[in-house]
Amino acid sequence: MTAATYDYVIVGGGSAGSVLADRLSADGDRTVLVLEAGRSDYPWDLFIQMPAALTFPSGNPFYDWRYESDPEPFMGGRRVAHARGKVLGGSSSINGMIFQRGNPLDYERWGADPGMESWDFAHCLPYFKRMENALAASPEDPFRGHEGPLILERGPATNPLFQAFFDAAVQAGYPRTEDVNGYRQEGFGPFDRNVHKGERYSASRGYLRPARKRPNVTVKTLATVTGIEFQGTRATGVSYRRGGQSHTVSAGEVILCGGAFNTPQLLQLAGIGDPDHLRSVGIAPRVALAGVGENLQDHLEVYIQHACLQPVSQQPSLDLWRMPFIGLEWLLGRKGPAATNHFEGGGFVRSNDDVAYPNLMYHFLPVAVRYDGKKAEVEHGFQVHVGPMYSDVRGHLRIRSADPSARPSILFNYLSTENDRREWIEAVNVSREILRQPAMAPFNGGEISPGPSVTTDQEILDWVARDAETALHPSCTAKMGPASDPMAVVDPHTMKVHGTEGLRVADASAMPYVTNGNIFAPVMMLAEKASDLILGRELPAEREPFYRHTPLSQLEEAS
Ligand SMILES: Cc1cc2nc3c(=O)[nH]c(=O)nc-3n(C[C@H](O)[C@H](O)[C@H](O)COP(=O)(O)OP(=O)(O)OC[C@H]3O[C@@H](n4cnc5c(N)ncnc54)[C@H](O)[C@@H]3O)c2cc1C
Repeated sequence: MTAATYDYVIVGGGSAGSVLADRLSADGDRTVLVLEAGRSDYPWDLFIQMPAALTFPSGNPFYDWRYESDPEPFMGGRRVAHARGKVLGGSSSINGMIFQRGNPLDYERWGADPGMESWDFAHCLPYFKRMENALAASPEDPFRGHEGPLILERGPATNPLFQAFFDAAVQAGYPRTEDVNGYRQEGFGPFDRNVHKGERYSASRGYLRPARKRPNVTVKTLATVTGIEFQGTRATGVSYRRGGQSHTVSAGEVILCGGAFNTPQLLQLAGIGDPDHLRSVGIAPRVALAGVGENLQDHLEVYIQHACLQPVSQQPSLDLWRMPFIGLEWLLGRKGPAATNHFEGGGFVRSNDDVAYPNLMYHFLPVAVRYDGKKAEVEHGFQVHVGPMYSDVRGHLRIRSADPSARPSILFNYLSTENDRREWIEAVNVSREILRQPAMAPFNGGEISPGPSVTTDQEILDWVARDAETALHPSCTAKMGPASDPMAVVDPHTMKVHGTEGLRVADASAMPYVTNGNIFAPVMMLAEKASDLILGRELPAEREPFYRHTPLSQLEEAS
């Protein structure tokens, strides 16, 4: 079906956009147009569908917006590269496929802000469950879903290095846990991933592909939205570029799902933001909302790499000459080293007694390789990825001009606070403590990175400033909150942009605080719930008791 006017125009066919397109079109009553700046995620595109090929799309303009930060003042002026999916499925078509809900206390934190009560864990849990088909979880588990569109497998973690790492964590005093997405997040164990039968299971695969078979759904790729059309403060449609030509389309509602960078950029281009900033770049303010583009949060991470004494790591699978054979094995049976995303297990740790829930996340890999595919020069190796999970540093995104194709200014201020720096030192120290336990001894061929020359707190911080990369979780740049909160952008009950009509946001930018793990699952939950709020309904809250550690300070107060 084609229509000159659509009930909903969704800007961005990425992770959240795929959910919205599916849920809003499901009853067949409403017309939906998805405008996606990137290309299609063809089923034959090996770089998307083959899990271990995940290093190839990042940095590649065919798949990636290729953002970078302004020079980071606390990292010696380094610019930090930020991949963002530019393809159907968005970042879920190029991401690491690690599936982490975050800790239930993350959502208790969301829900504790005034006006945000309906985003506490009890209200989010039904949407986490609706999204997933968690193959490894028991059907009786009240925390997990089994009928959702997104298929999740548990990382097999059968490489002996995983078992050694989990044992080492226990030897260092950290617990095991059965399911980091279930009753108890804190602890170590195998991780879920959105991989099924050796293929990536992106948001596009789970939601958009089935939805676009419906006659009331239209998807246009290579269509870059350049502006939001308004009558006063009511959004009436969007303008976009496709095939070298400009178009406009009118909409009952415009829903922004462009992600944590592009959504605030489009809002600012439309005159919604801090009036002084907007005027300074030649844009007439339409709605004064100081929070647009502010409150930027992310996870920074380092790789602590070791040589491996035994020939058990996956390092050889990175040899160029082996890749055709590995690729063939995957093509023929979706098996072998190419069928894994490598992130099969890890854990969540509290690095000090002040925090109520884990502030460090570990990914363990039985291979020593950076995200861009650069491998450590050892025959066999392994590594952990680690970094603070709810750092108190805040950054911003601000457009530099009224030209929609101009890159915005993006600054994270990584390492800018005392607390963040303290947690970084703890992150490296805890990692070293785990990796030097007896369980790792049969494999431990010595630390390659940062290496033995980095020991003092200052040396650790200097190394982090030089070496850390983003874990690729930018978020919170158009945060939900009531109109009474001067920094809130999106109404938490309707997802409408404050001060406007016909304009909503549903993607990573609407998160108020980043959660303590990878954020694909939280974004998908947010989009699931947003789709119901847009349709004027909501699933009942589910109040399941979940694991809570009692911080030492509270025990002392009680005694
Ligand atoms: C390389 C990488 C690895 C990651 N690894 C993991 C991981 O393993 N696990 C995890 O949980 N999270 C991971 N993440 C993060 C996670 O994937 C994202 O946070 C999440 O997918 C963001 O969802 P979103 O809907 O907000 O944005 P996106 O999924 O990025 O979707 C935004 C979409 O909007 C489109 N768009 C933007 N602007 C316009 C415009 N003007 N016109 C038209 N279309 C537009 C984009 O092209 C894109 O398709 C990773 C991210 C990256 C980039």
